[in-house]
Amino acid sequence: MIPIAKPLLDEMEIDAVSNVLRSGMIAEGAQVAKFEAAFANYIGVEHAVAVNSGTAALHAALLAHRIGAGDEVITTSFSFIATANSILFTGAKPVFADIEADTFNIDSNDILNKITSKTKALMPVHLYGHPAEMKAIMEIAEDRNLVVIEDACQAHGASYGGKKVGSFGTGGFSFYPTKNMTTSEGGMITTNDKAVADRAKMVRSHGSKQRYLHEMVGYNLRMTDISAAIGLVQLDKLNDFTSKRQKNAKVLSDGLRDIDGITIPVIRNDCEHVFHQYTIRVEKRDELATILNDSGIGTGTYYPIPIHKQPIYKELGYDDKLPECEKAAMESLSLPVHPGVSNNDLNEIIENVKNGVEKID
Ligand SMILES: *Cc1c(COP(=O)(O)O)cnc(C)c1O
Repeated sequence: MIPIAKPLLDEMEIDAVSNVLRSGMIAEGAQVAKFEAAFANYIGVEHAVAVNSGTAALHAALLAHRIGAGDEVITTSFSFIATANSILFTGAKPVFADIEADTFNIDSNDILNKITSKTKALMPVHLYGHPAEMKAIMEIAEDRNLVVIEDACQAHGASYGGKKVGSFGTGGFSFYPTKNMTTSEGGMITTNDKAVADRAKMVRSHGSKQRYLHEMVGYNLRMTDISAAIGLVQLDKLNDFTSKRQKNAKVLSDGLRDIDGITIPVIRNDCEHVFHQYTIRVEKRDELATILNDSGIGTGTYYPIPIHKQPIYKELGYDDKLPECEKAAMESLSLPVHPGVSNNDLNEIIENVKNGVEKID
């Protein structure tokens, strides 16, 4: 089976973890501080705050910007549930804009339709590793004085206009094992605003700056030094991982471009796509997925049910019509593109997609 995702770990991560375990200092400490500095430098921001998941990063970023009950945050329904749930956690209301058919990212034109007097923030997602349309999004935010929180959980190192995502507004990253780099579980907030970083640190640890003095209701969202030690090694490898993903994507696109009935991923001008996923569109998606899975090729369907159609969101009264989002949910199919995919694997994937498409035609 060619898996759809696979973390690449070797003796370097094992040694790094062993060293932390031998030191006896295993909670948040020196490794976390070192990882934060290295990640901030990599993204090109002043501050990075490490937490224990991508979900926690988004949650803490929203709270750091004082978003809460009575506020609305415009985001996309074509994402992992954690994007919108992080908004619900704060008491604010997620409001969904539709997506662009080609990049699967939030449609800035539809953002304009969804703005109300309660709108406080925009939360674009750089889905599959392709940057959202940040020029338009930042212009809207500046015009209306809105906060921008970027869900960059799938987009470590992706850039727009030469600038890395997570540095336009406040960024939230995930280091879950299937992501472009991992710390096992883990996340990071990135920002150029010291006040936001300081408040995110308070949210991370029981609302306190000074031990046993609590200024707000915070949580325990801390990352461990064990995770940070893995993260430091993985960050060093990230550029190599990314080039391999991009090379794999190019081979897939060259092999699949001329097949009728399939739409290959786009890369917009001025964008660097880091291919967290390589996602095609095909009408008979489920049929093709079954054929590929039966021939030993892992596939992913991200996401089969948009967030606004999830049972819990229906229960909350969501009844949106988001035609592009709903269509994408039926047609998108991700193929293995991660750095563990070999040239032989790529040929096998291309052959099987070709044959599969003929069969379902
Ligand atoms: C993975 C992911 C998250 C959540 O990250 P966790 O580390 O799993 O909590 C949020 N948003 C998107 C788009 C993701 O892909």
